[in-house]
Amino acid sequence: MRTCDVAVVGGGIAGLAAAWRLRSLGQDCVLFEAARAVGGKMRSERRDGYLVEHGPNSFLGSAKVLWRIIESVGLQGEVLPARKPAWRYVYRDRRARRLPLDPVSLLTGDYLSARGKLRLLCEPLVPGGAKGNDTAWQFAERRLGREAARYLMTPFVSGVYAGDVHQLSARDAFPRLWNWEHAGGSVTVGALLAPPEPTDPEDAGLPTRRGMYSFREGLGALPRAIAQSLPTEAVRMGTPIASLESRDGGWLVSPHPTLALDKAPVFARAVVVALPSQPAAELLGQIAPRAAQALAAVQTVRVAVVHVGGQDPQDVAPRGFGVLIPPGEGQRALGILFPSSVFDDRAPPGHCLHTGFFGGACDPEAVDLPDDVLADLVVSARGSAFASSAQLPDPTFVHVVRWRQAIPQYGVGHRARMASLMHDVTAHWPGLALAGSHLEGVSVADSAASGVRAVDALLAAGHGPLEART
Ligand SMILES: Cc1cc2nc3c(=O)[nH]c(=O)nc-3n(C[C@H](O)[C@H](O)[C@H](O)COP(=O)(O)OP(=O)(O)OC[C@H]3O[C@@H](n4cnc5c(N)ncnc54)[C@H](O)[C@@H]3O)c2cc1C
Repeated sequence: MRTCDVAVVGGGIAGLAAAWRLRSLGQDCVLFEAARAVGGKMRSERRDGYLVEHGPNSFLGSAKVLWRIIESVGLQGEVLPARKPAWRYVYRDRRARRLPLDPVSLLTGDYLSARGKLRLLCEPLVPGGAKGNDTAWQFAERRLGREAARYLMTPFVSGVYAGDVHQLSARDAFPRLWNWEHAGGSVTVGALLAPPEPTDPEDAGLPTRRGMYSFREGLGALPRAIAQSLPTEAVRMGTPIASLESRDGGWLVSPHPTLALDKAPVFARAVVVALPSQPAAELLGQIAPRAAQALAAVQTVRVAVVHVGGQDPQDVAPRGFGVLIPPGEGQRALGILFPSSVFDDRAPPGHCLHTGFFGGACDPEAVDLPDDVLADLVVSARGSAFASSAQLPDPTFVHVVRWRQAIPQYGVGHRARMASLMHDVTAHWPGLALAGSHLEGVSVADSAASGVRAVDALLAAGHGPLEART
């Protein structure tokens, strides 16, 4: 039987980051991925000259863990910064309004009424009142006023979580904002007084980068490059794991007997389960029912990602990053991104590519609409938001990706529940660790960081290299 130091279950960015960390620490690992390609949500493909992102479109330059991985797998030459200016818009009263990028546009923009802007500017004067059970709406209404809560916080919640602003927790979903109020009495004062975040010594030499980034061939380039940096025999694609069994001070990791391309089990001294919460709950159900219950209780939302491409002979496609659309504005799209405006080579020359998002916590049924209906909804929302884009010819390219478990929802108490879950797993199941977007944040960077931390926790607990077994 094949043995290894650590088995990683799940080949999304969380599992790949774990495998990368293990390899860079000289550990022998085997990664199991159910699909025939690695990356999970982070998948890009070129179709008819368009670059289609199945899930994430970009990552924040401040994400040091990703730069560490990018440098180590030799992908620096492929990095693409977002083009400037990366304008963002909010849709209000049947047109897009540019969000402020600097103090002048904060005052002059038409994204809020004069009264709404004045209320926003009063934020430092509003007494602090951070409560652990604040929803994102309660927090934003108190700090920024009702209008900014509606036109800034609500679409922001949709943009990051496809979530419901009345359900997500301010503390759990936006910990930095909440902590600033908690520590400083206001977000503004808290941000000004906040000490610099501690730098991981391993990040010391890395430059600080701002803005958003991708790669020439899309975000999927990173999972592919990580997988290629691992020994061929260490990556088993098309191999869903059906069971974990605690045995002889280690773990027997068994692929699904009928679905897996490679059905041979592996004996590992430790295991990182880097699966979304529902499949993680199913896998752990047999061995750790309490942990499985906590994972099964994590709410996730469904999202449809709708790519619409076509000619733009008059160069009238909107410029910038994209437009967020709050509920109640007469559109079903949660927002539309403009990939061909932000990154090079997302559409053939003279063409544009736009990506609409549907579903989420507030409109889950939208995910089930037929492809042509979803494409029409993107085109009509775009035409309403940007009058000039109504002149764009009908799209000639439509591609829809539907995620049944797209994004975990960080409701009130979510992080405390996940911390207690991880504590429980460490205490009762030595050699088992969890990673994934439901644990420490939903972004690509947070998911990768969770994989790295899972490995560090295992090694700190003494699950080092495995002695030779046959
Ligand atoms: C539409 C959308 C847009 C997004 N946009 C952004 C963005 O722009 N920027 C950003 O930072 N984040 C974004 N995110 C969030 C981010 O993409 C995800 O949170 C992150 O990629 C999750 O990574 P993961 O490894 O935790 O999970 P996943 O990517 O879901 O990977 C889990 C893997 O486990 C595999 N698997 C499942 N069951 C088994 C099994 N039994 N055995 C073996 N393998 C199994 C799956 O096939 C999958 O490959 C977006 C998410 C979505 C859905």
